[in-house]
Amino acid sequence: MTSTRDLALLPKAHLHLHFTGSMRVSTLADLAATHGIRLPSALLDDDPLHVPSTERGWFRFQRLYDAARACVRSEADMRRIVAEAAQDDAAEGSGRLELQVDPTSYAPFVGGLTPALEIVLDAARQASADTGVDVGVIVAASRMRHPLEARTLARLAAHHAGDGPGQVVGFGLSNDERRGETAEFAHAFAIARAAGLASVPHGGELLGPAHVEDVVDHLRPDRLGHGVRSAEDPRVLERVVAGGVALEVCPASNVSLGVYASADEVPLRALVEAGATVALGADDPLLFRSRLLDQYVIARDAHGFSDDELADLARASVRASRAADDVRARLLSGVDAWLAA
Ligand SMILES: [Zn+2]
Repeated sequence: MTSTRDLALLPKAHLHLHFTGSMRVSTLADLAATHGIRLPSALLDDDPLHVPSTERGWFRFQRLYDAARACVRSEADMRRIVAEAAQDDAAEGSGRLELQVDPTSYAPFVGGLTPALEIVLDAARQASADTGVDVGVIVAASRMRHPLEARTLARLAAHHAGDGPGQVVGFGLSNDERRGETAEFAHAFAIARAAGLASVPHGGELLGPAHVEDVVDHLRPDRLGHGVRSAEDPRVLERVVAGGVALEVCPASNVSLGVYASADEVPLRALVEAGATVALGADDPLLFRSRLLDQYVIARDAHGFSDDELADLARASVRASRAADDVRARLLSGVDAWLAA
């Protein structure tokens, strides 16, 4: 099978994209100018971030991320980010976006956590109508903050649970895997699960298979953010596969954060061949300079995925999403049509 089909036309779901990290560089520059903020040049140059997978490397990533986040200071800024994330996804064939946001940082500018989340949800509803990309929201807590804050966020997320556009579909946990005690976040995830939300914590990116097991044991994930390093232990990978835990694999992110030296070292094929459900994602294109479509290009060019295999990846992303049945059916039949063309 020759690989000639246009990957931008392949219908897919995008399940791992962070709110601030989704920003266009030009938008970040606009926001910084509007608010009179001086940005580190590394945020505005053309080069993807590249740091070692050490605490120092993560610290550098986090500092740049915080600098970008500090430019988001109003309801208009927040709405613009959601609208553009959906536009950019639409241009790359995504029909379903599950955008991850921790409303904590924006709350002070818009009157609290509840309005911060409601702005994102309303913008997601609007963006869905404008672009045709069905935009759901994942509320994510941070490992760097107290687990009680995670519970507060889980209750807020639960209040807006649903599978339609502009509703909360999942609950996540992000930031440095080396920080925080995973078990202490179990209560927050139990609150989220009880409301029908998907459990979608990060895990197995910076840390190896033992961290994957820690997260699986305590947070009972439906999907793992990354989870790529479960490939290092066949027993753990088998647990992930048998448990039906989907993996949100973000190859460009892994390379930028020094988890693998190059995109061809990401164990994408090993995960797929072990039977894992893999959904490709961009994570933070603002810093990694690589969007959703680029991840499918990596699968094709660096890993030799045929069009049939790329279609299977797209199907897996749709099936691992929390989209409503009609949206899933439409996207899956679009994948068939792409292959038939
Ligand atoms: Zn992430």
